[in-house]
Amino acid sequence: MRQAETDYLIIGAGATGLAFADTLIAETDAHVTLVDRHGKPGGHWNDAYPFVTLHQPSAFYGVASMELGSGLKDPVGLNRGMAELASGPEVSGYFDRVMNHRLLASGRVSYHPLSNVLGEVDGGVEFESLLSGDRTRLAVRRKIVDATYFSPEVPATHTPAFAVGAGVRLVPPNALPGLWQLAQAGAMPRRFVVLGAGKTAMDARIWLLQAGTPAEAIRWVVPRDSWVINRLGTQNGPEFFEQAIGGQADQMQAFAEAESIDDLYLRLEACGTMLRIDREHRPTMFHLATLSEAEVEVLRRIRDVIRLGRVTAIEASAIQLQHGRVAVEPGTLFIDCTASAVRFKPPQPVFEGRRITVQLMRAPHIAFSAALTAYVEVHGGDEAQQNRLCPPVPFPHTMAGYVYTMAGNMRNQQLWNQDATLRQWIRQCRLDAFGRLVSGVDKADAAKQALLARLKTQGMAAAANLPRLMAAAAAASAA
Ligand SMILES: Cc1cc2nc3c(=O)[nH]c(=O)nc-3n(C[C@H](O)[C@H](O)[C@H](O)COP(=O)(O)OP(=O)(O)OC[C@H]3O[C@@H](n4cnc5c(N)ncnc54)[C@H](O)[C@@H]3O)c2cc1C
Repeated sequence: MRQAETDYLIIGAGATGLAFADTLIAETDAHVTLVDRHGKPGGHWNDAYPFVTLHQPSAFYGVASMELGSGLKDPVGLNRGMAELASGPEVSGYFDRVMNHRLLASGRVSYHPLSNVLGEVDGGVEFESLLSGDRTRLAVRRKIVDATYFSPEVPATHTPAFAVGAGVRLVPPNALPGLWQLAQAGAMPRRFVVLGAGKTAMDARIWLLQAGTPAEAIRWVVPRDSWVINRLGTQNGPEFFEQAIGGQADQMQAFAEAESIDDLYLRLEACGTMLRIDREHRPTMFHLATLSEAEVEVLRRIRDVIRLGRVTAIEASAIQLQHGRVAVEPGTLFIDCTASAVRFKPPQPVFEGRRITVQLMRAPHIAFSAALTAYVEVHGGDEAQQNRLCPPVPFPHTMAGYVYTMAGNMRNQQLWNQDATLRQWIRQCRLDAFGRLVSGVDKADAAKQALLARLKTQGMAAAANLPRLMAAAAAASAA
């Protein structure tokens, strides 16, 4: 058994582990060891479907010390006029650069790809190379950082939870750009069924339509309709000030005036911050998926939608669902988008003795949350004070859950505002989406100052209404 030493062991070299390591390296002279089962940095981005992109502008994703993307706006396509969204390959390439040019180049980082952390043994942590089987016992002088809390499930690596009969053509979305090979073999499918209601299923349907598939050839199996965030409100360039800050003020006003959970979503839709694909159906799910209005328009072209609950089995000529059975043409291609990127995990203290469990500090900004946690690890004082600065924000697993997510975001912002050093760090951090946009406003710019004042007033009104919405959320979960 090999023996090694480090100050910090980070389990997981996905976006979370890398953002944490980057800030730790910037703020200390510690030695850091990253161990990951994947063969390359970037976690699930290595397994993503080829046409995946970020949901949000590249400008505030990745690690704090290195820009992602070119800062340009998309000149064409369904995101036209808005800040570019990095593609999956771009994100993977970026994380390679982070590892090589930033972390390994510091001389203070060891990286062990294709290695599995086995657990703590005799005060050390053991990991095993998946290639050689060689084991290493690592003595960790300071902390073990668990950067696997989110670990989203993606289609290429998950096992469907439904039965798949003989002869069924079922593929993950990763297979779609390779359909030309089926055409060459004379086996091109003429009918497509997309399974799933989340962002991956939305992306797969948009890809099929944009690639030229007639809308009538696509059927969508949607267990639950979903609310989606309007991407226009996530733009952080100065030219989008009105949409971004005005959108946040509108959002706060919706939280301030809503009388129930349903009323909240309808108000968010009315002010344009929330969208739905089918106006005839009231969504019952919200997992922070983000789309442009042009993408929503494209998705509305698909009219063949099955709403009979979850798929329980697929046969060559039929789909069995919780609430019914639907015939399909032989030779139909099923696209499995049922992997759940957001598995429920209960929040836990971030700082617990020798262990740090990186979680959301501000939803949905995972990269910002990880960098902030590293900063608090270094500068946040004792464990009690660190946990005071880092209460986890729950992911909205239910519609009502969004109220707790927003309450957590607002509480944390208030906590950080009271800590002058942390506030200063956040203001200069590239991963903080809107801080620089707000702090750069000219005092003499009356229109922008008025919007900021409105955001503040509505924010206070929203905070005052949160107890009522939380009571409504608790009643909704009890029902
Ligand atoms: C398609 C898609 C698009 C997304 N777009 C955005 C976006 O635009 N903006 C945003 O903020 N978020 C987005 N997200 C959310 C996403 O979850 C995060 O951005 C982020 O990539 C998650 O990174 P992670 O490091 O937490 O998890 P992962 O990428 O899953 O990394 C965890 C790593 O831990 C490793 N690991 C686990 N257990 C062990 C062990 N025992 N030993 C060794 N290694 C281990 C795994 O191999 C993995 O590499 C998106 C998610 C998906 C699925």
